[in-house]
Amino acid sequence: MDPQELFDLEIGRLWTEERVSCPHRTLLQAYLDGRGSIEKGAREFVAFHVEELGCPACRVEVEDLKAAAAAAPAPAAPGSAAPPPPAGTAKRLLTETQIRERSRGK
Ligand SMILES: [Zn+2]
Repeated sequence: MDPQELFDLEIGRLWTEERVSCPHRTLLQAYLDGRGSIEKGAREFVAFHVEELGCPACRVEVEDLKAAAAAAPAPAAPGSAAPPPPAGTAKRLLTETQIRERSRGK
């Protein structure tokens, strides 16, 4: 077995058993943006991690980025007050924290 093959096996084991390889938020953002702003290998990594493994922490992150992207194009009306935080934000943040603590708690 060649070293690359061993490496791939080890990475696959880590992804499925340890979940230590969550892509950074900026990588998730680039993945959502598409348009060649992400290397092919990185795109495959994120796609596998989020869609195949269904990493809960990263799915939350992706949903958050999508919501932010959807909200971004509309500029605030002049003189309007800052919008209140979306409902459920605190709950979502709590959930993210819980997921991260759980995934570290080995
Ligand atoms: Zn993840």
